[in-house]
Amino acid sequence: MMPRTVSIEASTMCNIHCTCCTATPMPHPDLMSWDTFLAAAELMGPGCIVMLNARGEPLMHPKLEAMVAVARERGAHPHFHTNGTLLTPQRVGSLRRAGLESITVSIFGATKETHERLQRGAVSEIVWEGVRLCVEAGLHTAVAFVVMRSNLEELEAYIRKASAIGVAQVTLIRMAGNFPDEDPFIPSRREQTLARLQSAEQLGATLGIQVWRLGRFDLEGVCSAVA
Ligand code: SF4
Repeated sequence: MMPRTVSIEASTMCNIHCTCCTATPMPHPDLMSWDTFLAAAELMGPGCIVMLNARGEPLMHPKLEAMVAVARERGAHPHFHTNGTLLTPQRVGSLRRAGLESITVSIFGATKETHERLQRGAVSEIVWEGVRLCVEAGLHTAVAFVVMRSNLEELEAYIRKASAIGVAQVTLIRMAGNFPDEDPFIPSRREQTLARLQSAEQLGATLGIQVWRLGRFDLEGVCSAVA
């Protein structure tokens, strides 16, 4: 029986540094070899979801388009999360031609100041333009927002910004790892944070953009979700 989901790590390298990252620096940053990918591809069957990354930046892999094409040839649905800094018109075009149908771009703030503070090395205008290119190319495009104390105030503006570009979904991710200064779920803030998320979901419904919580927001303590 073929698995319903295959998750691989095309790259354990990343070109930026997010303050909440639990993945970098990796002990041995590297790109997946083509032979390893082909071995994993044997597991991909029709209807299978293929996640091409978990923690690194997949667009750093020069054969990412070829990986997408192999997955599509096998009837699978490849998808990946990216920080969006390498989304050029050429790259979006080649991914689309390879058969990519959907993408998630991780952006942790609505304003340039917050985005670039939380994701050091990203240039906000370039990343949002990459998102726009994905939408324009016909990809089902999501943006991922890691919920933190210092960006929660921007969530409504973030949803409006994504909606105006035509983004299909805002994915809310609970911060992983132990960053006590940024944890919005400490007992004294928990109810306030949950109320904010609920009102963000209502705003999404009003604007016609899906706002979706990934992972367990109902648990206390540190969660294991990743961006
Ligand atoms: S969270 Fe993702 S994009 Fe940010 S530094 Fe870590 S691997 Fe890179």
